[in-house]
Amino acid sequence: MTLKTVAAALITVIELPYAYDALEPYISAETMHFHHDKHYAGYVAKLKELVADTRYATLPLEDIVRQSDGAVFNNAAQALNHELFFEQFSKHPRHHPTGKLQHAVDLQFGSLDELERSMTTAAVSLFGSGWVWLAADNDGVLYVIAKPNAGTPITDGLHPLVALDVWEHAYYLDYRNKRKEAVEGMFKLIDWATIDKRYESI
Ligand code: MN
Repeated sequence: MTLKTVAAALITVIELPYAYDALEPYISAETMHFHHDKHYAGYVAKLKELVADTRYATLPLEDIVRQSDGAVFNNAAQALNHELFFEQFSKHPRHHPTGKLQHAVDLQFGSLDELERSMTTAAVSLFGSGWVWLAADNDGVLYVIAKPNAGTPITDGLHPLVALDVWEHAYYLDYRNKRKEAVEGMFKLIDWATIDKRYESI
């Protein structure tokens, strides 16, 4: 009798929805190759190895993030965080939200500029590696949240909208130590049409 390994079939490396050089000059093709093909793909590969033959193997990524801790959580959250990060950018982004999300941003922050300033300050203030998020609760109330390491608003019961990766691997080749400029570059690429859709699906 052969014991079959239960592989994590649901966990895959997403392809970039644009060319590696599409985000230049704000994020270089070299950064995208390292970030997507090495760092992100590395978390996915490690996660698949960790969850094979465990109860996590058949779960969607988001459920693994909700239910795990330790190394499984770290790699699952990094896999999901990077999906949200890469998929929010476009070579031809729409630079502002519309409808419900525009209303919520204006009501809570005054303007999109003020929201971006608040997220940039959070990014610069975060000690070490981590993520800065725009997230929403079930009622659509918005939150700017800084999380160290693989942190995600999903563990707070919130819905992630915008993901700023402030691990040095996300920007060091292009910006060296200038995290503020790196974040300002990310904002030039965020497609608010995608963020609108995330907000509308809450
Ligand atoms: Mn990253």
